[in-house]
This record gives sequence, structure tokens and C-alpha cells, in this order.
Amino acid sequence: MCTSCGAPSQGAARCPPCAEKSYHGSAHFRGWPVYPPSYTVVLIETDEPIATFDDEMEVAAYLAFEKLDRDKVEVIVDRSPIQSMTGWE
Ligand SMILES: [Zn+2]
Repeated sequence: MCTSCGAPSQGAARCPPCAEKSYHGSAHFRGWPVYPPSYTVVLIETDEPIATFDDEMEVAAYLAFEKLDRDKVEVIVDRSPIQSMTGWE
């Protein structure tokens, strides 16, 4: 069982969601890790983020797959999750 939330964890100390949280938490405490940029696709009409990707190729593939017009969406390049969390520009 998961030591954090008690969910079944298939023998691991933590279930996958908690393991990920723990990983990101410790990365945060190590200082200012360099993250690869992330790309958030925002639907302009509703101003709603609909997907996030790690690279531009995935964004292009997603837009093609969802048949979304490039001018119907805004792709926000986020170079640091920490900056976005604190609202810095
Ligand atoms: Zn858990």
C-alpha cells in the first residue's frame, strides 16, 4: 500500500501519483531545477487550457489530430513551472 495515501501501489512504497508528487516536491527543494519548456494549448474562444506538451512537435500533432486551427488556439510556451506558479513573466 502507498505510504502517503493508502492506495494500492503494487509493492512500491508509493502509488504512481504520490511518487510523482514526491519526486516533484524533492526537485523543488533542491533549488531551481532546469525544466524543459512546456507548451500549453489554450482554446482562444473559451480561454481554457486544453492540453500541455513537452515539445512543439507534439503540439503540432495534437492540433492536427484534433483538427484544431492554429488561429483558434494559443500556444503558451512555459519555460519554467516555478515561474508560472509564482506568476512571474
Ligand atoms: Zn498514494
